[in-house]
Amino acid sequence: ARQFFVGGNFKMNPASRKDKVALVKLLNEAELDPATEVVVSPPALYLIPVKESIRKDIKVAAQNCYFKDSGAFTGEISPAQLVDSEIPYVILGHSERRTIFHESSEIVAQKTRAALDKGLNIILCIGETLKEREAGETAKVCEEQLKAVVDVLKENDWSKIVIAYEPVWAIGTGKVATPQQAQEAHKDIRSYLSTAVSFAVAGSTRIIYGGSVNAANCRELSTLPDVDGFLVGGASLKPEFVQIVNSKK
Ligand code: 13P
Repeated sequence: ARQFFVGGNFKMNPASRKDKVALVKLLNEAELDPATEVVVSPPALYLIPVKESIRKDIKVAAQNCYFKDSGAFTGEISPAQLVDSEIPYVILGHSERRTIFHESSEIVAQKTRAALDKGLNIILCIGETLKEREAGETAKVCEEQLKAVVDVLKENDWSKIVIAYEPVWAIGTGKVATPQQAQEAHKDIRSYLSTAVSFAVAGSTRIIYGGSVNAANCRELSTLPDVDGFLVGGASLKPEFVQIVNSKK
């Protein structure tokens, strides 16, 4: 069985150290379903203080990394530095990285390979824009984004990958995918994994949904057969993140 997974992607939030401390306190005092794997992803500046102050059953993820170990790459953080800082996860390929910071699927694949080589776990984000969905290209776009990664991975690498399906039109818009839309996309991604990698990897890889998940819509989405959890943006900064972690309870 695939363990339910809930990630909180704080993005470039909260705006102050004081608010960051308050958020950690809220999570430290919450009753969280021990059956859910919980990972929070603060901005790079806060990774170490959050890791040192948060309860041990919540893991910490970086929101990005580069593919080199060290060197003249101003503004970047390496997988080796994350591992040395005992940060176990990294989010790669988020749509904001792809769109605003022009990361291609090939760059995302290169980063994924480098992060795996250092032993990091990866939350790999994929998803279509509204235009692509309306053109009927959802499955094709997800497959293309995944293929770049499939091409540089070995079968046993997949145990360290969580796929986050995040339709771009649902991110930060309040327009959550319907249960039918989410289930269909997740099922298509799983069947692509079965063809492109293996039946075993398709069965064991967690595929989580992201895009306007909140306390009101998480329960129904969590019951879908191919939805193994969530990657939460805005709601991960609020008390309702606890209810999302506890969707299955
Ligand atoms: P929202 O939950 O704010 O829509 O963001 C989703 C997301 O991008 C998580 O990575």
